[in-house]
Amino acid sequence: MQLKDIQRLQREFDEEFFNKFWEINDEKTFIERLQYLVVALTGEIGEYANIVKKASRDFEHLKENISEEKKKQLIEELVDCFIYIIITANLLGIDLEKEYLEKLEKNKQRFEKYKRG
Ligand SMILES: [Mg+2]
Repeated sequence: MQLKDIQRLQREFDEEFFNKFWEINDEKTFIERLQYLVVALTGEIGEYANIVKKASRDFEHLKENISEEKKKQLIEELVDCFIYIIITANLLGIDLEKEYLEKLEKNKQRFEKYKRG
């Protein structure tokens, strides 16, 4: 499965379950949808950060390694972040895989001096 397939699956899901969200007839509504998505993404990043905070605190004070349960929670919140990124890419009408590959090439040039060997 490629990223474009994931974008399509998410688009189908969103149209089925959140059809009203995609009724966008003017720029104001488009901006409002962008705002909603960045708030939602930030919320999910916060949930992810909170688990990292707790893991860090447990390690610092109790010398506890990250539990399997915490790893599962981290994965879930990371995927929640990914979902909102996918939805935002769909709203913007961009091919995220293509954009990622272009950015990767830029980063290869940007970080050339750090390259191994
Ligand atoms: Mg979440």
